[in-house]
Amino acid sequence: MNKADCTGNLIIVSGPSGAGKSALVTGVLRSLPQLRFSISYTTRLPRGTETHGVEYFFVDRQEFQNLIEKGEFLEWAEVHGNFYGTSSRFVDDILKNGEDVILDIDVQGARTIRQKRSDATAVFILPPSFQVLRERLECRRLDDGLVIEQRLKRACKEIRHFKEYDYLIVNDNLGSSIDELKSVVSSARCRIAVRIESAKSILATFGGVDAEDPR
Ligand code: ADP
Ligand code: 5GP
Repeated sequence: MNKADCTGNLIIVSGPSGAGKSALVTGVLRSLPQLRFSISYTTRLPRGTETHGVEYFFVDRQEFQNLIEKGEFLEWAEVHGNFYGTSSRFVDDILKNGEDVILDIDVQGARTIRQKRSDATAVFILPPSFQVLRERLECRRLDDGLVIEQRLKRACKEIRHFKEYDYLIVNDNLGSSIDELKSVVSSARCRIAVRIESAKSILATFGGVDAEDPR
């Protein structure tokens, strides 16, 4: 990236629980430089090996409420009976540093962010089928039966929103889906609006051609 292009891209990933968002995001973060994960705040308890400050900032309801009142969230929503919120400061610091940021958030949060940041790129992740989604949630062994049923019920509602997104990835083969998500991030980086400052400095080497009006 040219030094002049100093604002990063905001990439939103949504999809039903168990569709593979974390697996895809982890795969992409491992292989693409200058891309960071937006660590959300949540009132949900840590699952398995989840660690405060890695997957989420785990806080209690009172602390979450204080953060809402202080205006710390770019968006927040109630999902599966818990609160989740994206920190404005966390995201802005990454973007100002010229790095891209990837958000794993639900459809309500995606909608709120797209109203505020029309340049955000939004990707919806679908599992290959309902049955596969159920198997993935069961194999993950992180939720009990009742929670899995709640997540599947919610999935039936969430998937109806896929058309609100720019891109759709059907996460069947994990490697191919990671490649597709990497391509989306790469495409976002190539947009004219993002590359305009690079273009201007290159065009300047051609003897003062104006990149805004290059006739
Ligand atoms: P989400 O973040 O959307 O809730 P996860 O990334 O936790 O979903 O994935 C749910 C489970 O499915 C995990 O055990 C994960 O390893 C597995 N998984 C994800 N993608 C695939 C895939 N393409 N093929 C097989 N298993 C997958
Ligand atoms: P989980 O509990 O499985 O980690 O996440 C449950 C849901 O909450 C997922 O759909 C995930 O995308 C969403 N989520 C995680 N963080 C945020 C956030 O900051 N804001 C919103 N709106 N949703 C979030």
